[in-house]
Amino acid sequence: CGIVGYVGSRSALDVVMAGLKRLEYRGYDSAGVAVLADGGLASAKRAGKLVNLEKELAERPLPTGTTGIGHTRWATHGGPTDANAHPHLDNAGRVAVVHNGIIENFAALRAELAERGHELTSETDTEVVAHLLAEEFSSCADLAEAMRLVCRRLEGAFTLVAVDADDPDVVVGARRNSPLVVGVGEGESFLASDVAAFIAHTREAIELGQDQVVELRRDGVTVTGFDGTPAEVRSYHVDWDASA
Ligand code: GLU
Repeated sequence: CGIVGYVGSRSALDVVMAGLKRLEYRGYDSAGVAVLADGGLASAKRAGKLVNLEKELAERPLPTGTTGIGHTRWATHGGPTDANAHPHLDNAGRVAVVHNGIIENFAALRAELAERGHELTSETDTEVVAHLLAEEFSSCADLAEAMRLVCRRLEGAFTLVAVDADDPDVVVGARRNSPLVVGVGEGESFLASDVAAFIAHTREAIELGQDQVVELRRDGVTVTGFDGTPAEVRSYHVDWDASA
C-alpha cells in the first residue's frame, strides 16, 4: 500500500523507515525493506505493523547502505504472512522488488517461471517480477531496461520499485494505473507512492506518467516509456504542509 525508494548519502534504511511511517495512515498488513550494502543486497520483512519490522531489524540489523527500498503491503494475493511480505527476491538474491497493485496475469507467468526452474516461495502476484527481472539480466545488464522489458509483459495495475545488487547506485521504478512520485534532492533522490514519504527532505517532485519507468540516481533521474522512448520530465514544487 505504500512504497519508498532512496539513493543518496544517508542511511537508506533510516530514510525508508521514516518514509514508511509517513504512509502508515493508508493502512497495511505487513512491511519490509531492502538495502544495498557491501556489494550485496540485504532485506527484512514482517507481517503486522512497522513495529514488528523494527523489532526484527533490532534483532538482526542490516548493514548500512545508501540505496534502499521499502514497502507496506495490503495483501491481495496470498495472506498477510512474513513470506508474502515484500520485498521479493529472485533465487540468486540479486534483485529485490516491491509492488503496490495487482498483476492480473501472474498465474500464467508463475507457471512459465516454474517450468524454467525458478523456485517461487510466496503466494503473491508480485514475486514473478523479481524472477522475470533476473531472467532479463542474462541478456541485459541494465535494471531500467530489464524493468521496461518485464513491464511490457505485465497486465493490471502496478507501482513497482526494484534494486539490483550489481548496480548499487540505482533504484528503478515503474507505474501503470497506480501512483509513483519522484523527489529530487541535493545529491539524493527519492521515490514514493505519495509525496508525504519524502516531503521532509525535498519539495521538488516529478509525477511519473502512465506506463513510464524511472531510473533514480543520486544526481538525477531518467524517465522513459515502457518502450524506451525518453519522456519529458516536468518537476513541480510541493507547497502543502505535510505536518498537518
Ligand atoms: N498484490 C500485491 C500483494 O498482494 C501487492 C499488494 C499491495 O498493493 O500492497 O502482495
